[in-house]
Amino acid sequence: MPIEIKFNAQGQSLGLRLSRSFAPTLKEDPTEAEVISHKLLIRAGFIRKLSAGIYSLLPFGLRSLRKLERIIRQEMDRAGALELLLPTVQPGELWKESGRWKYYGKELLRFHDRHNRDYIIGPTHEEVITDLARREIHSWRDLPMNLYQIQTKFRDEIRPRFGLMRGREFIMKDAYSFDADEAGAEQSYRAMYEAYNLIFQNCGLKFAVVEADSGAIGGSSSHEFMVLAKTGEDNLIFCDCGFAANQEKAELKDYATLAPEEMNQALEKIYTPNCHHVPELAALLDIPTGRIIKTLAFNAAGNPLLTLIPGDRKINLTKLKNACNGAEPRLLTPEETEKITGAPLGFIGPIKTKLRVLADLGVKRLDGGVIGAGEADWHYRHARPDRDFKVNQWLDLAIAENGDPCPRCGQPLSTQRGIEVGHIFKLGAKYSHALGALYSRADGLEAPLIMGCYGIGLGRTLAAAVEQNHDHNGIIWPLPLAPYEAAVLPLQVQNKNMTSAAETLFQELLNARVETVLDDRDERPGLKFKDADLIGYPFRITISEKSLALGQVELKRRNTQEITMLPLTSAAAVITQLRNETGITA
Ligand SMILES: [Zn+2]
Repeated sequence: MPIEIKFNAQGQSLGLRLSRSFAPTLKEDPTEAEVISHKLLIRAGFIRKLSAGIYSLLPFGLRSLRKLERIIRQEMDRAGALELLLPTVQPGELWKESGRWKYYGKELLRFHDRHNRDYIIGPTHEEVITDLARREIHSWRDLPMNLYQIQTKFRDEIRPRFGLMRGREFIMKDAYSFDADEAGAEQSYRAMYEAYNLIFQNCGLKFAVVEADSGAIGGSSSHEFMVLAKTGEDNLIFCDCGFAANQEKAELKDYATLAPEEMNQALEKIYTPNCHHVPELAALLDIPTGRIIKTLAFNAAGNPLLTLIPGDRKINLTKLKNACNGAEPRLLTPEETEKITGAPLGFIGPIKTKLRVLADLGVKRLDGGVIGAGEADWHYRHARPDRDFKVNQWLDLAIAENGDPCPRCGQPLSTQRGIEVGHIFKLGAKYSHALGALYSRADGLEAPLIMGCYGIGLGRTLAAAVEQNHDHNGIIWPLPLAPYEAAVLPLQVQNKNMTSAAETLFQELLNARVETVLDDRDERPGLKFKDADLIGYPFRITISEKSLALGQVELKRRNTQEITMLPLTSAAAVITQLRNETGITA
């Protein structure tokens, strides 16, 4: 039966016969894949690896990507942003002007052209867009302006893993706003904040927005959009009051410690042979781990230092880095620790040390505990700050944990894992200063353009959608991102009546603009079911000899696993209605 072809908003055909498709599915997990989205996107025939961190999108993968692009474009355009397309290859000169030629490191893929001029493959486009702005934006009348593109980028990651989650070549939506002043830049930022919320809502994803830098006065100048998934690489902290932050950066105020020790107990040296670790020491002394003051030795920009923290807490390296004026702290090796402190790891301590001591405020509240004696096999008990050892700086150094008090309202925090898919950021005049992007104000004076930048990783968003929505059988696409919304499965293609019923239903669904595949392959029913579950079509419609005899089809929803029998004659209408209730239409 000839099928009348219909097209969606991207000009793509709404329907596909699987006998004519290119969606090579695999029975087994590919060996190189470590994360679920990587395994499932390969197995379901969405992507194939070409080289380390470089993937081909097969037709189903590209269809999902195009749907995501459409969702992004709609909200960007609604917010007043204008789409353009900048080159992938950029002259090295621009990066020398901005200073990033020197600082970007090996992630920047550099090469020479035939005239021996420096070029790079763009990992990001601040330089190129600022160059365009300095040439073309001259007056306050041109502002505000927000320009965006959806484009392939390249970052030469040292260990690209996890498929689309962290490739070397990847597709990004990046936007750059230009404003006359800070107030305008704030408005542009808020508009993108709202647009991003709508984008991830329209994708049908569960997500959270977290402040990307903690403790910023007068509101954060950077937010991360996180798809929530148990397998996410970021730990997030939430409170019912609306506070949300990355655990790496979440500030922490007055979390609970053990009660202070009795005031009058004298410092006492105790023999603790071979007790290198907090749990062993706590067991030997029969005390809670929270009574031990853990000492760690770091090196930050060539300066060794000691940190103190209660034994039941973990140190937050981002907070330590901030305390070291941005120098990356590196934990000393056991050999370095012994050389610099004179004691083996596990026995070092702040008493009589010459090193700078940074202590978590929890140690102050604890006010007395067990601490390394600074010599092998010995500790002190009842050690109290100020009386027995000196602290150069008290600060918040601990990682916020489940149940700790919210820094805003004091209620207990909860934790969840997430995957960063979007990031919005105020750039200020950083690039307009460096590249001289100035405009004339209404009073005739010249001023630098105030910029913001706004990114979404598209491949990463698709991977995150899979991490959030899957089961042991395969992907469970949220309807807006599914390559096709429905699959019609006639189980015996030699049966002419069955084939004809399936093709009629296929045509009815296409007429109703439901994106549908017809599994007309001459394959076992088991394989058709397995592929449908693996690929993750939201609606699976099966026609068997038994159902056909009753004039019915079986509808299975991929997300709820719910099965219903529908009359063949009204099946298309019911499925169309269910689709329209859930999502975006073609
Ligand atoms: Zn709160």
